[in-house]
Amino acid sequence: MEHLETDLLILGAGVAGVYGALAAEARGARVLLLSKDSLPSGATPWAQGGVAFPLDEADLEAHLQDTLRAGRGLVEEKVARSILEEAPRHLERLLSMGLPFHAEPTREGGHSRPRVRHLGGDRSGLLLLKGLLARLRSPVLEGYQAVSLLLSGGRVAGAWVLSPKGPLLVRSGAVLLATGGLGRLFPVTTNPRGATGDGMALAWRAGATLRDLEFVQFHPTALPDGSLISEACRGEGAVLLNARGERFMPRYDPQGELAPRDVVARAVHRERERTGGVYLDLRPIPNLRERFPTVAASALALGLDPFREPLPVAPAAHYAMGGVKTDLLGFTGVPGLYAAGEVASTGFHGANRLASNSLLEGLVMGERAALAALEDLSTPPRLSPQWGPLKGLPKGAEPLPALSLDPGLLPSLREAMGQEAGVVRRGEGLGRALALAEELPLEERPPKEVGREEVEAGSLLLLARFLLQMALLRRESRGAHFREDFPGEGEEAYHLEAQGQEVRRVPRLG
Ligand SMILES: Cc1cc2nc3c(=O)[nH]c(=O)nc-3n(C[C@H](O)[C@H](O)[C@H](O)COP(=O)(O)OP(=O)(O)OC[C@H]3O[C@@H](n4cnc5c(N)ncnc54)[C@H](O)[C@@H]3O)c2cc1C
Repeated sequence: MEHLETDLLILGAGVAGVYGALAAEARGARVLLLSKDSLPSGATPWAQGGVAFPLDEADLEAHLQDTLRAGRGLVEEKVARSILEEAPRHLERLLSMGLPFHAEPTREGGHSRPRVRHLGGDRSGLLLLKGLLARLRSPVLEGYQAVSLLLSGGRVAGAWVLSPKGPLLVRSGAVLLATGGLGRLFPVTTNPRGATGDGMALAWRAGATLRDLEFVQFHPTALPDGSLISEACRGEGAVLLNARGERFMPRYDPQGELAPRDVVARAVHRERERTGGVYLDLRPIPNLRERFPTVAASALALGLDPFREPLPVAPAAHYAMGGVKTDLLGFTGVPGLYAAGEVASTGFHGANRLASNSLLEGLVMGERAALAALEDLSTPPRLSPQWGPLKGLPKGAEPLPALSLDPGLLPSLREAMGQEAGVVRRGEGLGRALALAEELPLEERPPKEVGREEVEAGSLLLLARFLLQMALLRRESRGAHFREDFPGEGEEAYHLEAQGQEVRRVPRLG
């Protein structure tokens, strides 16, 4: 078995991991990144919209208010303010790196002003990530999946990794989780194949707290394979029709197709249940091919012709507001373990994410968490900065067991999640899905015995259990969490947290 040693091990090479690595290597640290899929991997390269940056000092307050409004009383204001205050410095840095941001910001849903910066039209995430990767000097090992964290003297000190060449033990002074979200828990999702919540499960197993998992943002219009049809299409004239060919959105909201994302998602869900299907008619958009090349190409690839017929659409799991609870520096509370990006729950998004705030959070928190992890290294045990093979197993270091599930059992779990924990939830259905999730055997196995798919399925099962428990406990509708049996928003805003087996209610900090 091979062993490697480094100062900072970063799990994930999306925006949070790569931007964090750039900051750490600029301080002279030895950094190693792992990506379980080939580059460019993760959700980052799929981001079509852009990155939200406050325009100036005055707009900072307005951006904060928009963020607070979207988050429905659960945004931690101190966190949001600190992220937004730092945002302009990062935009300047990215511009100085030569990243091709469009000069003119655009306005997106929920933003009171045009402040979203795009790159390459609808290829923002791809160009951002490629630009960052091009400047990175640290190695990124592709096809390397962390399946368990290594503990040494009460600290996280590395990871057990599945690699194309076999198992690998990486020992590090600290670990930064930047593994992205959990969209693959649902049957229809806009997320990439690797969005299986691995980092959340690894952190929980090491003793970290998971927070607010019930808040999953659903995108209202995705094709059957999860390809996203951007909101901008509806802005340009596309209309939603039910299976009877009726336009239904004006019955749900006076803004029709341009109602807020969660309102449209619920309407699409209801009309699919009521009439058997929902379709998006893109034909009213002039110059569809030139204006939305990605959308047109995704439809054609599925054998659907957007120029001749309305396209079948459904709501799709899009973004996890919850995740590993961290402080303002990305610290998880477990010595040596940090988290940034979609895997983390900093309190920035509350109960619903404001469009394009996630890439921004990935940048700001990726840098902060990487630098905080380096500070942590200056206290013993400081590791040799040499990166290379080790001769023997490190003394006293123990890999934690890996969580695993037979991947053949995943489809039934996904189906239950789509049915009972999607855009519209009810106590009874959530209870049924939880009973199923609790029946499925979540195993703890030595990391040397598990494979990629078993670990992904194990992570998803763990997260399903907590998500369902939290959704049951939250007897109200707030942000992205809608309970048909509790349609109103409760008076008090609180978080739900899981640590060990316990799930508890925790007041918002403010
Ligand atoms: C279709 C789509 C459009 C979006 N549009 C926008 C937008 O316009 N603006 C915006 O702000 N946000 C958008 N988002 C959300 C945003 O893209 C993501 O929240 C963000 O990119 C997440 O970045 P990240 O660095 O946290 O993780 P990711 O970019 O998802 O990267 C995760 C990384 O972790 C690796 N990984 C995972 N598990 C392991 C493991 N066990 N071991 C090793 N490596 C692992 C993956 O291979 C990958 O490298 C969009 C999301 C989607 C899906």
